[in-house]
Parts: sequence; C-alpha cells; structure tokens
Amino acid sequence: MTHAQTLPGWRHVYSGKVRDLYVPADLPDGATAERMLVVASDRVSAFDHVLDPGVPGKGELLTTLSLWWFDRLDGGDGRRRIPNHLVPDRVLGDDDEAHSLIPDAVIGRAMLVRGLDMQPVECVVRGYLTGSGWAEYRETGTVCGIPLVEGLRNGDRLPEPIFTPAYKAPMGEHDENISFAQTVELVGADRAEELRRLSLEIYARAAETAEEHGLILADTKFEFGLDENGVMTLADEVLTPDSSRYWDAAAWAEGTTPGERMASFDKQIVRDWLAENWTSREGTPPQLPAEIVERTAARYAELLERLTS
Ligand code: ATP
Ligand code: MG
Repeated sequence: MTHAQTLPGWRHVYSGKVRDLYVPADLPDGATAERMLVVASDRVSAFDHVLDPGVPGKGELLTTLSLWWFDRLDGGDGRRRIPNHLVPDRVLGDDDEAHSLIPDAVIGRAMLVRGLDMQPVECVVRGYLTGSGWAEYRETGTVCGIPLVEGLRNGDRLPEPIFTPAYKAPMGEHDENISFAQTVELVGADRAEELRRLSLEIYARAAETAEEHGLILADTKFEFGLDENGVMTLADEVLTPDSSRYWDAAAWAEGTTPGERMASFDKQIVRDWLAENWTSREGTPPQLPAEIVERTAARYAELLERLTS
C-alpha cells in the first residue's frame, strides 16, 4: 500500500494509516533524517483499518489543531515549555526559500519536523473511562493493571487521570494495552517515568483548556521520541480528534444514557457506525456512507472552532 505523492525535494519513506512521511530527497540511504515532512491525509482509520472514503479537509484540520496545541504547550499558555518535534521558525528564518521546503501541494497539511528516535509506546492518558479502558475494567476491574474503584459506568470520570500505555505494534498489527512494568521493560525505568510524567502533565493542561471551551478531554494518546541531545520530545499529532476523545461538557453533565453523555467531537461516530455495520470484522470494512463522512467532517470542524475561537 502506498499513498505517496511525488513532492519536489522530498522522498517518501513511510505511510501510516493516516500520515505519510518524507525525508529530504538528497539524504543518503540509511542515514538518519534530521528533518522530515509529516503529511496528514484525509484518510480515516478505525479498529486499525483504513476506511473508504476519506473525510474531506480532515488532514488540514488535524494539522491546524496539532500546530495550535504545540504552540500552546510550547509556552503559549504561559506554562512550562514542552519540547516538540516542529522545526522552529527561528531556525527556518523568514526567507521564502526556507518556507518553500513545504511543497505547495501539501501546504496546510504538512509539518516540518525533526526526525526523532521514536519510543515504541503510545502514551495514553484517561481522565474518563470508556473504549478499551472500559472494556478492560468490566473484565478485570483494572485498566493497564491499575486497579480502579468499583461501580464505575461507561463514560464516568475517574478519581484522577491515569497513564495507560499501549505497545506501538508494527504496521498491520494491533496496538496492545500494557502495564507500567511492561513499559519499563520496553524503554527503561527512567524513560518510562518521564513518559508518564510528561503525558499526565500535558493531559492536565489540555483538559483544563478544553474545559474552558465547554469540552471534556476524555482521553488522549501522545507519542514521544528522543532528539539528538537525548531530550524526550513530543511528536506526531497532538490532541486531535483522531488521537483523543472530546465530549460536549454540558451533554455529559445532563445526559443519562452513554450515548447522550458521550456526545463526541471525534472519531467515535465512525467507530460506532463500523461496530454496528461490520460485525464480522473480517475482510475489507464496508464503505462509509456519505452521511457518516459528512457528520464526522462537521464535528471535526466544530471542535476546531470551539477550541480555538
Ligand atoms: P496509526 O494509524 O496507528 O497512528 P501509525 O502511527 O503507523 O499508525 P501514522 O500516525 O499515520 O501511522 O504515521 C505517522 C508516523 O510518523 C508514526 O509512525 C509516528 O510514530 C511517526 N512520527 C511522527 N513524528 C515523528 C518524528 N518527529 N520523527 C520520526 N517519526 C515520527
Ligand atoms: Mg499515529
């Protein structure tokens, strides 16, 4: 499967489910890329499958929102700066030549980033119980090995946010929830601690911002990598409706059913439709109906508007 576009000055090296990665065309084979281009497509994935059709405008929206959050977390909210993978403007300078590194064809959908040594852990934080966390809790009373109080319902707020990492499975395999002890085995004790501390801090700051805009950040997933100086750096997309569950705070407070409480501004619309219409989970997933595509696009746009206005 390749979704590569031909982009002047860049060479395609990888396509994930949603993003395409490029390195400078003149980079020697096998060399580590200092700079990379991460291009978000309109592809939509659920249950680890890319669905058809995509959601028009989604790639641009994800990129806009990621950049907005990176900026806030990089001192834009007046707090401690969280290092991120963007190539800073001060390095790029204002000259047209530097900015022309992002080809016209992908402007708005692309981020110029520093190539990092990515950690093999998806750093999930949950402030509310739902999704795979809820599924695990119902079975065992724990999430990623963390015991929780009894009697929680789908969509309930947790006593405090928890770090529930997942092993980042290679392409084509499913990510898997893991315990903190397994995270330590994967990356070492110091890095595991650092990933947990950073993830919980970013979640708390973002959840507070969301709340100011009438939104609940129910859960989210971060990816980190080490930069050339060994600094743990926030990478990939951040706090988007693809990587997070956002709910309407008023609906959550007033709702009585899970459906009412979790009125979502995220990929849940697609997940729910697929769960109902692809029960076999075998072969190719069915085509998304136009109505689901439109509703998802509208909800994503509304989230951006509400958060950033
Ligand atoms: P999934 O659909 O589960 O997210 P994926 O993570 O493989 O699958 P994408 O998110 O579409 O696919 O692709 C983005 C890829 O780019 C990820 O593998 C991510 O780890 C990687 N990545 C993001 N930022 C950087 C960076 N600064 N340096 C190196 N790799 C990066
Ligand atoms: Mg990803």
